[in-house]
Amino acid sequence: IPILAKAASAHDGIHWLKSTVESWSLNADQARARLADGGEVSASLAVAADGRLSPAREAAGIRAFARPYPQSALVLNFGHRSDHGFVSTEFHTETGPFTQVPLPGRRSSLVWVVKPETAQELAALDDATLSERIEQQMQSVLGRVSVEAGRQIYPMSAASPARFAQNRVALVGEAAHVFPPIGAQGLNLGIRDIDDLIGIASENRGDPGASRSLAAYDTRRRPDIWARSGAVNLLNMSLLSDMLPAQLARSAGLNALG
Ligand SMILES: Cc1cc2nc3c(=O)[nH]c(=O)nc-3n(C[C@H](O)[C@H](O)[C@H](O)COP(=O)(O)OP(=O)(O)OC[C@H]3O[C@@H](n4cnc5c(N)ncnc54)[C@H](O)[C@@H]3O)c2cc1C
Repeated sequence: IPILAKAASAHDGIHWLKSTVESWSLNADQARARLADGGEVSASLAVAADGRLSPAREAAGIRAFARPYPQSALVLNFGHRSDHGFVSTEFHTETGPFTQVPLPGRRSSLVWVVKPETAQELAALDDATLSERIEQQMQSVLGRVSVEAGRQIYPMSAASPARFAQNRVALVGEAAHVFPPIGAQGLNLGIRDIDDLIGIASENRGDPGASRSLAAYDTRRRPDIWARSGAVNLLNMSLLSDMLPAQLARSAGLNALG
């Protein structure tokens, strides 16, 4: 985040207003945001990059269908004896993925998806016991593990909006798609949202937030978002299933996601 913040501050094309949006006013010609510091900003197009609960999406009148999963993710950072070689390893368990993501040095972050009550139990363990559980779970591939301070628990859910743009607002990232963290698909899909939006806004420079431009964005993003969200949700449901056919389909799906 500090690296991204530095790049944003140094970019000529970015005017960073360090406040939050308190309310939206969307009309036929423009989107206007009223900020918490009393300021106001208006534009032809508002990009809703404000996460899974997206106030901008709500202001645009786009309904999102949310579905909770009987899973929670325990998230923490840990140190380890062996080098990770900048390789991420994902283990699939009957309650969800256990994913190690490399950080600089001999450190990694962990996303461990389990039943909600198990997440609470794991988070309550002392450092030594939790470190041992993590090392066992990852079959000691990185040697001795020692957890760092700070454990977070995220309830798992899926959500898909009825449209990806409307009323001068285009949705990107988790405002446009929420699914469980399997195969590290979320960030890449969000980057593709932005890439497509830049392309369409450039083709409609006169008024990038006009209905025509928003309809083009909706049409362009729909197949990619539906395919990725559908595949990840299906894989997640197969993890929660004891059925052999579902498990075979999961292996095929994981290969397809790459
Ligand atoms: C446990 C877990 C593990 C994950 N692991 C991976 C992974 O390994 N790889 C991967 O690719 N993806 C992963 N994901 C998904 C990834 O986190 C999301 O795809 C990504 O964070 C979405 O980014 P975003 O900017 O859309 O939303 P967010 O990261 O939620 O950011 C939204 C931002 O909007 C801000 N905001 C909200 N309302 C307002 C307002 N009114 N005014 C101003 N700002 C506002 C919020 O403060 C926040 O900073 C994981 C998700 C979870 C829950």
